[in-house]
Amino acid sequence: MTAIILDGNALAQKLRADFRTRAEALAAQGTRPGLVVILVGEDAASQVYVRNKVAACEKAGFYSEKISYPPDVSPALVLAKIAELNADPKIHGILVQLPLPAHFDSDAILDAIAPEKDVDGFHAENIGALMQGKPRFIPCTPYGVMKFFEDAGIALKGKEAVVIGRSNIVGKPMAMLLLHAGATVTVCHSQTRDLLFHTQRADILVAAIGRPRFVTAAMVKPGAVVIDVGINRLQAGPDAGKLCGDVDFDAVKEVASAITPVPGGVGPMTITMLLGNTLEAAERAAKRGT
Ligand code: NDP
Repeated sequence: MTAIILDGNALAQKLRADFRTRAEALAAQGTRPGLVVILVGEDAASQVYVRNKVAACEKAGFYSEKISYPPDVSPALVLAKIAELNADPKIHGILVQLPLPAHFDSDAILDAIAPEKDVDGFHAENIGALMQGKPRFIPCTPYGVMKFFEDAGIALKGKEAVVIGRSNIVGKPMAMLLLHAGATVTVCHSQTRDLLFHTQRADILVAAIGRPRFVTAAMVKPGAVVIDVGINRLQAGPDAGKLCGDVDFDAVKEVASAITPVPGGVGPMTITMLLGNTLEAAERAAKRGT
């Protein structure tokens, strides 16, 4: 079996065209969706992610702004900026790029963002709403993964779904969304005793680990749908310097029924759903008249 390749670039383009139309309709009523991205420090990967987010906003016709701070900035200064943005009616979404330097309490920073502007969906109140099955904002990466299932007509009800990874930004919200969609969900992590036992019975396998080509063909049930969230830069070997996912794509695509590539899979969908959440926030603000 050779898997269907779930093309994140194509799906992102389709969704972004719809977002652009909605943004134009909103602009005609006097509201331009606005996103501010706050970057603390000089982490190279974070700088690339932030640049891509701001560029995607501009392309979609949104207002966007990057606010950068040096790595030793005082958390109080960042909190004051967040308070100012919370009160600014032109700004509908506020995103603080993670990870933050060690002297920051990340949860305190995320919880300072007004929940109705928390387009990453990481505020405790929004995580709670997601748990209850009444999400205000769905975290962008798992939201993008759900769009793959929806677009490809992959049914989730009654399926065995296995998520490898339990981070707050990917693994846990991913598991919650699959659960709400009717799948039977297992979450695996570094202390899972028999990972193979779990992965081999997964109809839906989501890898969010951060280890290059960790998921091998032997770990995958024939016909499974495999979603690769990982983004890793290979350090050695003939492909050194190249990006790869958490899944051994070439081997696993011969076993799976559908698979996302890296690059060109989940990555473009994450930024797309950030646009979607920002647009949604702006539409809600316009409705409220704020
Ligand atoms: P984290 O490092 O926060 O979480 C990794 C998870 O993998 C942890 O829960 C960890 O377990 C688990 N894990 C590590 N080693 C093993 C192992 N040997 N067996 C089973 N589980 C293991 O990473 P993130 O969730 O933030 O990101 C995961 C990957 O996704 C990264 O490559 C990241 O770059 C990528 N990413 C991609 C995005 C995109 O847009 N495509 C967006 C966000 C992330 P434990 O909890 O026990 O430590």
